[in-house]
Amino acid sequence: MLTAGPKGTNDILPGEIEKWHYLEEVIREICRQYGYSEIRTPVFEHTELFLRGVGDTTDVVEKEMYTFIDKGKRSISLRPEQTASVVRSYVEHKIYAQPQPTKVYYLGPMFRYANVQAGRYRQFHQFGVEVLGSYDPVVDAEVITMAMEFYHRIGLHGMELHINSVGCKECRPVHRQRLLEFLNPKEKKLCHLCRSRLAKNPMRILDCKEEQCQELSRGAPATADCLCEKCASHFAMVRKYLDDVGIQYNVNDRLVRGLDYYTNTAFEIMVSDIGAQSSIGGGGRYDGLIEEVGGPPTPGIGYALGLERIIAAMERQGLEFAKDRTFDVFVAALGEKAREQAFKLVLDFRRAGLVAEMDLMGRSLKAQMKFADRFNSGFTLILGDEELAKGVIVVRNMAAGEQTEIPLGGILDYLTKQKRRNSST
Ligand code: AMP
Repeated sequence: MLTAGPKGTNDILPGEIEKWHYLEEVIREICRQYGYSEIRTPVFEHTELFLRGVGDTTDVVEKEMYTFIDKGKRSISLRPEQTASVVRSYVEHKIYAQPQPTKVYYLGPMFRYANVQAGRYRQFHQFGVEVLGSYDPVVDAEVITMAMEFYHRIGLHGMELHINSVGCKECRPVHRQRLLEFLNPKEKKLCHLCRSRLAKNPMRILDCKEEQCQELSRGAPATADCLCEKCASHFAMVRKYLDDVGIQYNVNDRLVRGLDYYTNTAFEIMVSDIGAQSSIGGGGRYDGLIEEVGGPPTPGIGYALGLERIIAAMERQGLEFAKDRTFDVFVAALGEKAREQAFKLVLDFRRAGLVAEMDLMGRSLKAQMKFADRFNSGFTLILGDEELAKGVIVVRNMAAGEQTEIPLGGILDYLTKQKRRNSST
């Protein structure tokens, strides 16, 4: 028991973490270029925020939330996603009073009591962005473009982008009405959950994963056919911007987000070769959400992607992550005096910006050399009594297979020059 973590959680171990660092680096770089600042919000919030901000008829809130009563008798939930928290923070700190739009990104763990399977965990990590304060379709196109750009930068291929528009609070009731007319006669054949959705949230029936419901809703009125003029032209402009930069997409009228504050653009990105859990990101507009959470009417759009699934997709496609852990220099020392000298040297090397390591296990010289080799050390320095007496250190250039002796006092200078030379070639 004590030696196994809770179901659906993962330890990210050395050897694996380098992949995460690599992705985080790409994320921070792309966000910097697109003008997004990082936002960090707490991993838990008042449960009420998610009931309102995600919606109490969604699976995420209805079935999957980690909710508990804290010692102050408040209902608290671990965040199942971060949009609601970002919006709460935006309203709480009156960020809407600053020049708009607000562009933020986040990176961190989310918690859902999900049925655990490959690609579906109870603690997983998302990278997401939110743009608050603009209704302009160019923002929708920019957010989608950035998502696709991210996948391209990490080398993924085979993505499919699905987009749709779910309209606004004016045109949605029209769709709802037509949908009810279509689905009501089929009520008895719908799955148990969809029967309750019929009253609360019929649009969600369109993305039910049950085969019988998919069959029954085939030919149902599409949201795109019920859009008011404003929403239709918004959607047309989003597509135009995407066309202009050559981003390919499928208009998928089954892609819906059931709640009233989700408006206009909805999108999802799939990749075919990571098995059943093929969604590697999704998002959309939520022009009613900020008001729902208690702020002034403000448009917003965002997307989130799951990092575990990105890593799985990259592994399946045999893509390169960042390089494994390496040392610039390893100091192999033999004897107490030499170890003392080595300890001082690695400090100097590290202060000069080198990745330096020495033996911490009392290994034999041969074992130290093997260890250095395993971590692809660029240089291995050898220091024993003989070298100490002569005031020199043996430098082995591992890649070139060459070995020389350098005076101890000049070794730092030698290594930093070599490093500079290597990084400029
Ligand atoms: P959602 O917030 O449900 O739209 O999910 C956004 C992205 O997060 C999905 O495309 C997945 O990549 C990822 N994701 C959602 N739920 C899980 C989960 N339980 N485990 C791992 N990744 C998830």
